[in-house]
Amino acid sequence: MRQNRSRGPKWQNCFRCGKELPPGSLTYVTQIKIFAGFDGVLLEPEGGVDRQLKQLLKQVEQSNPEDLEKEVYQEFNLMLCKSCRDRLVEEINHPWGSPGRFIH
Ligand SMILES: [Zn+2]
Repeated sequence: MRQNRSRGPKWQNCFRCGKELPPGSLTYVTQIKIFAGFDGVLLEPEGGVDRQLKQLLKQVEQSNPEDLEKEVYQEFNLMLCKSCRDRLVEEINHPWGSPGRFIH
């Protein structure tokens, strides 16, 4: 495979707006972890634990292990430029704020 024309250190793009982020520029990494929540409540399975266990094993056999793992836990590292980082922080602090806040 042919390599890209050498630009020195790797350029990156902002995950949100696609802006090019040259080496040495101010960037922010957002690490997102998504995993299944557990509220401490285990529902008594219908037909008893044995039956549920058998069903579960059957499901596991039929599933792609990678898919199964993704369902339980996924991690993302997203590169953001300064302005997208500011917006993201704003959205996290005010998730149900009025729409259109960010229209300039
Ligand atoms: Zn951006």
